[in-house]
Amino acid sequence: PYPTEIREYLYKILVIGDVGTGKTSIIKRYVHNIFSMNYKSTIGVDFALKVIQWSPDTVVRLQLWDIAGQERASMARVYYKEAVAALVVYDVTRPKTFEAVKRWKADLDSKVTLHGTEEPIHTILLANKTDLQESALNAEELDEFCEEHGFLKWFGTSAKDNKNIEDATQFLLEKILASE
Ligand code: GDP
Ligand code: MG
Repeated sequence: PYPTEIREYLYKILVIGDVGTGKTSIIKRYVHNIFSMNYKSTIGVDFALKVIQWSPDTVVRLQLWDIAGQERASMARVYYKEAVAALVVYDVTRPKTFEAVKRWKADLDSKVTLHGTEEPIHTILLANKTDLQESALNAEELDEFCEEHGFLKWFGTSAKDNKNIEDATQFLLEKILASE
């Protein structure tokens, strides 16, 4: 048999949103499958790497960028550099964090585009902590919001209960690979 050629991809994915919305928890759940009620908010930028055998001949490395202690809805351009996708997170129990989503998305779009084209990077919205308050989700309104603000889709997630995080990242990855 001929040796198969393995394709490898490395993608930088940003996880942004207000402080305490669950960004670090979502990353830890996705990458290490753990949850804790107290992650220290360290200052600086944290990385986590998730390696996925997407298909027999495709390996994807996701580099997840976690902002820590600098959640001001305005990040340095260098932080966004070369990202191909973003997760914007809000906390369903705190409406203020949803208000901030627009600012995060605007900041993102003003500082990075897909491979330097005119296109925005692939972005989804995560309505996190649905284990506490699922009733806070209004599907129709969120659909409209996503349409209006350039999110591909929204997901109601829980880092605590491990709900929808795998689905959300899977969806995002499909979009990224489809645009290769
Ligand atoms: P970050 O500042 O956005 O990184 O937020 P953290 O990941 O540090 O989470 C802030 C707090 O919310 C911590 O006490 C977490 O344990 C808690 N938390 C994060 N995700 C969830 C969730 O899905 N459900 C619940 N109930 N708590 C969560
Ligand atoms: Mg954090």
